[in-house]
Amino acid sequence: MTEQILEVDGLKKHFPVNEGWIASMMRAVAGGEQDVVHAVDGVSFELQEGETLGLAGESGCGKTTTGMSLVKLHDPTDGEIRYRGTSLEEMSGEELDGFRQNAQMIFQDPFESLNPRMTVYDTIAEPLRIHDIGNETARVKRALEFAELQPAEQYFDDYPHELSGGQRQRLAIARALVLDPDFIVADEPVSMLDVSLRAGVLSLLERMTDEFGLSVVYISHDLSLLRHMCDRIAIMYMGRIVEIGDTEDVISNPQHPYTKSLIDAVPVPDPTADRDRVELSGEVGDAVEVPTGCRFRGRCPSIIPPDGIEIDQAAFREISSFRYRLEDGTIDPASIREDLDGDRSDTAAFKRKLREKHFTHELAGANEATVDDALETLASGDTEAALETLADRFATVCERDDPAAEPRVEIPDDRGVACHLYEPETPAETTATGEDAAPADD
Ligand code: SF4
Repeated sequence: MTEQILEVDGLKKHFPVNEGWIASMMRAVAGGEQDVVHAVDGVSFELQEGETLGLAGESGCGKTTTGMSLVKLHDPTDGEIRYRGTSLEEMSGEELDGFRQNAQMIFQDPFESLNPRMTVYDTIAEPLRIHDIGNETARVKRALEFAELQPAEQYFDDYPHELSGGQRQRLAIARALVLDPDFIVADEPVSMLDVSLRAGVLSLLERMTDEFGLSVVYISHDLSLLRHMCDRIAIMYMGRIVEIGDTEDVISNPQHPYTKSLIDAVPVPDPTADRDRVELSGEVGDAVEVPTGCRFRGRCPSIIPPDGIEIDQAAFREISSFRYRLEDGTIDPASIREDLDGDRSDTAAFKRKLREKHFTHELAGANEATVDDALETLASGDTEAALETLADRFATVCERDDPAAEPRVEIPDDRGVACHLYEPETPAETTATGEDAAPADD
C-alpha cells in the first residue's frame, strides 16, 4: 500500500493589495480592512508516494502559489499542509531541516532561479553545504551525470550564462536532486525552453520520477504535457480546484464546464475535425472582490437558470453576464448616459443603447418584462434597485452566497467536480453497469 506523502487541507494564501502609502494611511485612519488578493482560496488534495499530480489552469489561477506553499516558500493564510502526517506550520529544528531536504522546487525560468555568480559546481554543492552533507564532489558529479551534463568535470567551472537554456534547466534539475528528495514541485519546467529542447528535458523529468520514486506536482497550463506526465490532474480556477481525478478520466470525460472549455482550447492535429466546442466568454473575475458561489459563473456556458423559469440557455447567460458586470462596475450606467447623443435624460435612448450592447437574444413574457423594468430603473439612476429587480427573477443556485451550498472539491475525493451540475455515480449505479466493478489496477 502506498503511503500518503502530502495532505493539503483548505489551503488559503491571500496577499495584501499594494495600495500605496497614502491610501494605506487613509485606510488605517478610517479603520478599514486592507483588500487582499485571494490567490489560493480553499484548496484541498492528497499526494501519495510515487504519484505525479498535475495542477492546471489559466495564468493567475493560483497554481504557482499553491506549488510554492507546498515546499514552504509561502506560509498559508489559512488551512494546513501536512507532510507525512506533520503540519508544516508545526515543524522546526531537525524536522524542518529534513523537510527542506526532501521537498524541492524546479522553477519555470532556470536563468532567474540560478545564481549567475556561482559556477555549476557551487550551484549544486550549495544545498549540500547548507545541510552539512559530506561526500560533496561525488554527489555533485553524480547529480550532473544523471542530468546528462557529462563528462561532469567539464561543466564544473562553467557559469549559468555559458550554458544553453536546456542545459540550464538540467542544472536546475541536478541541483534539486542532489539532496535525494522524495517530493518535487516542477513549475512549468519546459515552458521557457525552445520546442526542440523540451522533449529531452521532459524525458529527464520522467526518468527522475521513475528512478528516484519521487512524488511530483507538475504545474502547467499545457494539458497535453500534463496528460503525458501525470497520474492525476487538478484543474484550478480563481484560487480553487474545480475538478480533480485520474488524468485520463478528466481529459477524456471532463465534467466541469471550465475543464471542458480548457480541453476544447487544446489544438488538435486536424483543425477541421468536428468537435463540440465550448467557447469561453468574458474575463477571469476579480481576485479581490471574489464572486459569491461558483467563481466561474460569470463565464460559465452552462450556468443554471432558476427553477420554474422558461428561458433559452444563451439568453439566460446574457442576462447573468449583464447582472454580474453591472454589479462589479464593468458596466457603468453613468458613462453610457454620457455617450448618449442629445438628451442624457432620454430613457428610451439609454435603454436602446444598453440593449444594443448587451442583449442579442430575444426575450419574451415575464423575462422580457423584468429586463425592461430593470433597464428603466437603471435609466433613473438607481443601479441597486435595478440589480434587485433582476436578481429577484434571475438569481441562480450557481451564485448562492452560502459556503455550505457552494460546490467544492473535498478530500478524500478520487473524482471531485465543483459544479452543481455534477452528479457522482453512486456505487450501486457503478456496479449495475458493471464498468468499474473490478479494482482500478486490475
Ligand atoms: S456551478 Fe453553475 S456556474 Fe459553476 S460551473 Fe457549474 S453550472 Fe457553471
